[in-house]
Amino acid sequence: MVSRIASNRWATAKRYLGLGGSEQVDVARRSEMRVGQGFDVHRFSDDPTRVLVLGGVVFEGERGLVGHSDADVISHACADALLGAAGLGDIGMHFPDTDPRWKGADSLALLRHVRSLLAADGWTVNNIDSAVICEAPKLAPRRDAIQQTLSDVVGAPVTIKGNRAEQLGAIGRTEGIVCFATALIQRESGTTESRTT
Ligand SMILES: [Zn+2]
Repeated sequence: MVSRIASNRWATAKRYLGLGGSEQVDVARRSEMRVGQGFDVHRFSDDPTRVLVLGGVVFEGERGLVGHSDADVISHACADALLGAAGLGDIGMHFPDTDPRWKGADSLALLRHVRSLLAADGWTVNNIDSAVICEAPKLAPRRDAIQQTLSDVVGAPVTIKGNRAEQLGAIGRTEGIVCFATALIQRESGTTESRTT
């Protein structure tokens, strides 16, 4: 029994190594996967006209964040994770805060643009998971809306977890919001071919 298993393994290895025989060998398409990590932080603004936008969802009546764009810290972390996974740099490279085109920009448009950059290189998004750290606002009531909005933009499941900083440090003093995101992306690599050995 053992020798039969060993023999089968050797036969398989020989096929892939191209040793002996005249069998057709299919080199299957391989899926290439990459992981990326994103981070972003924004301070709360004292400007009462700033609107708080998290993951594309507007939080009415909450203090907004300081930023060149709409300061959507969740969308930015997700975009950063996707760019990192694809080896396409970071969000600051693509959307510099000195560029007037991005002043007050809707960050969902930025995220959509990042998705198109990945698609141009053959990447599709597998999923994104993110952790948001803040004392306020409470994310739970809007979590489903955020997840749905971001999932629609990237074309894959996006999950959000809200965490508090337990009053530690600047985030614990409600001075801003931090977001970490991890993205998994994939693309087909290689081609299906057959060769005679
Ligand atoms: Zn940002």
